[in-house]
Amino acid sequence: MDYADTIKKIVTRISPSPTVFIRSFGCRLNVSDGNSLLGKILDMGFTVTNDVNCAALIILNTCAVRENAEKKVYGVIGELKHVKEKNPDVIIAVCGCMIEENHVAEFIKNTYRHVDFCFGTFAYGKFPELLYNALTTAEFQCDNNKYPTDFTDFNLYQDNVIKADVPIMYGCNNYCSYCIVPYVRGRERSREVSDILSDIRSLTDNGFKEILLLGQNVNSYGNTLLPPTPFSSLLKQAAEIPGDFKIRFMSPHPKDMRKDLIDIIAEYPKLCKSIHLPLQSGSNRILELMNRQYSRETYMEIVKYIRKKIPGCTISTDIIVGFPSETEYDFEETLSIIKEAKFYNIFSFIYSKRVGTKAADLPDKTTAAEKTSRMTRLLSLQREISTELYAKYVGKTLTVLFDGTSKTEGLISGKSDEGIIVEAPGKTDKIGEYRKVRITGSHNWALHGEIL
Ligand code: SF4
Repeated sequence: MDYADTIKKIVTRISPSPTVFIRSFGCRLNVSDGNSLLGKILDMGFTVTNDVNCAALIILNTCAVRENAEKKVYGVIGELKHVKEKNPDVIIAVCGCMIEENHVAEFIKNTYRHVDFCFGTFAYGKFPELLYNALTTAEFQCDNNKYPTDFTDFNLYQDNVIKADVPIMYGCNNYCSYCIVPYVRGRERSREVSDILSDIRSLTDNGFKEILLLGQNVNSYGNTLLPPTPFSSLLKQAAEIPGDFKIRFMSPHPKDMRKDLIDIIAEYPKLCKSIHLPLQSGSNRILELMNRQYSRETYMEIVKYIRKKIPGCTISTDIIVGFPSETEYDFEETLSIIKEAKFYNIFSFIYSKRVGTKAADLPDKTTAAEKTSRMTRLLSLQREISTELYAKYVGKTLTVLFDGTSKTEGLISGKSDEGIIVEAPGKTDKIGEYRKVRITGSHNWALHGEIL
């Protein structure tokens, strides 16, 4: 049965323009999966609504990376009970990484009776069938089977008209001891180079100005392809596609950060000169316990090679504070590498225990208060460093892609090639194009300038 077509007939019988509300949590790859799903739902005759009370179909696309993320989702699911009470015909679905955790799927089934169906990260292809069943039966369904990934089923729908996400691979084989991703996203599998390049061509032909290549671990891209194709080769081919656009990627793993990849970024102007390189800790003992497969010394060698080959390239990172058994000495090691590496930005998190991961079994005697105080010290050090680094841009001219209006009246906002937020006086007609901007001021999180 062509479920999508049948659904179209059913829903348009219910209402001439049925509406869908979708909310994705977590990483950009999860948001991109949500957009792909939304693209398929729009093809079924639905239109998007941002008002959950007006929706005929509500989808929560969940994230399981930290406990807080899950708590947030439970809160939102709970609130939907009132929406269902007001509109019993509304269909409510929960999908994404949380549904891959069987204990969570069971909990949702038993606790939130207003949820009609759930599906996991391998079951996006089953969505039309699940929706059809939800529209025609009152039975709760949950499908978190590990179906083979059908890359042809991917929809290129984007949630804006300037920057586009292009997933290049799914899954991760690294099994960092604190991370739930390999358990909810499975092993690495890469899309074909030709499919990715054709996506980039069709998006940039349609006016998109920036392409973000996405994967849990982009620099192990292509290992599953026949023949295996390194990420540097994909990046080179993408950068050779003609057109006025730029390319970014997220997220690489330091253990797979090879010199040829850095050389390619240096060689092609289309490749943005900003690299996000998750470090997680500066202590070799903790990196070992995390199973990160590199030391602080090898990490710094990569940083130095990037700075030598690509002068002006910015590096940002992720840091976990309070990993089980982290001592004051381990934490000092993290602070010292932050001072040495001089990151432009860090995304820092207090360790969150994930059921099923190796680290979950490690003894963790550090108090929450101690972890919070370490986080405060880390952020205050990084603020000093960012303030110093950002101030060096004053007087310089940067290339900026403005993609929206700032919270400050009369200013528009965008990101420079270096990945830095830049705000400048300007009207919306300047949005969506690359502009030269002379930097006139700096904070510790953004720059201020005037469009030339
Ligand atoms: S590289 Fe490590 S932290 Fe990143 S997704 Fe894979 S297992 Fe998780």
